[in-house]
Amino acid sequence: MPNLKAAVLTVTPFQQNCAFLWDEGTKDALVIDPGGEVPRILAAIDQLGVRVTKILLTHGHLDHAGGAASLRDALAARTAPEPAPPIEGPDPRDAFLLDGLEDQGAKYGLDDIRNVRPDRWLAEGEVVTLGEHRFDVLHCPGHTPGHIVFINRAAQFAVLGDVLFQGSIGRTDFAYGDHAALIAAIKTKLLTLSDDFVFLCGHGPGSSIGAERAGNPFLR
Ligand SMILES: [Zn+2]
Repeated sequence: MPNLKAAVLTVTPFQQNCAFLWDEGTKDALVIDPGGEVPRILAAIDQLGVRVTKILLTHGHLDHAGGAASLRDALAARTAPEPAPPIEGPDPRDAFLLDGLEDQGAKYGLDDIRNVRPDRWLAEGEVVTLGEHRFDVLHCPGHTPGHIVFINRAAQFAVLGDVLFQGSIGRTDFAYGDHAALIAAIKTKLLTLSDDFVFLCGHGPGSSIGAERAGNPFLR
C-alpha cells in the first residue's frame, strides 16, 4: 500500500481492534471503531504523529462505537477553532444501537461509553476518502442490520469489522441477527474480491480473502 499505513490498538474488555489508517506523506488519518478507552486512543494518535480527519464506524455495537463521541470531543478541543473531525457511518439501520450504547455499557459496568449520532450516515456505494485514498462502502448486514465495511481497491486492503474474521464470521445470535444475510453478504460482496486482498477485522488477527476462501469453515 504505497503511502497508506495501518495500525491497530486493542480496546475495551471485548478486545476490539481500533484501527488507524494514515497517509505517510500527509500524516492525515482515519480512526475506525474507537470502542472505548479514549485516553489510550489519543496516546496512540500522538505516538503515530498523525492528524485525525475522520472517525469511521463499521456498526453500532458498544465495543466498536462506544468511544466515538468522547474521541470526537477530545479531538475538537485540540483542533479548535477548526471543527472536530466528523464521525461517518454506519448505515442508518444501526441507529437503534447507537442510541442504546449508554444502556448497553451500563449493563457491562462500563462508564466511558456514550451514545453517538454520526455526522454522516453511510450507505452501499458511497465513498470515504483519506486524501487520495478511496474507501468504497459496502453494506454487509447480518451481524447487525446496518453493518458496513470499507474497501480500498487500489491497495487491495479492507476493514471488515465483525463481518469476517480469520477462521470465523460475526455472531448472529442477537434478536436482530440474520445468519443467512451475513453469509450472503460475505459470499456476494467479499469473496468476489481477489485472493490478494488483506483485511483487518474487529477481533483477533487480520487475514486475506484468499486464506478465508480456502480455509474458513463457515464458508463451505
Ligand atoms: Zn459487533
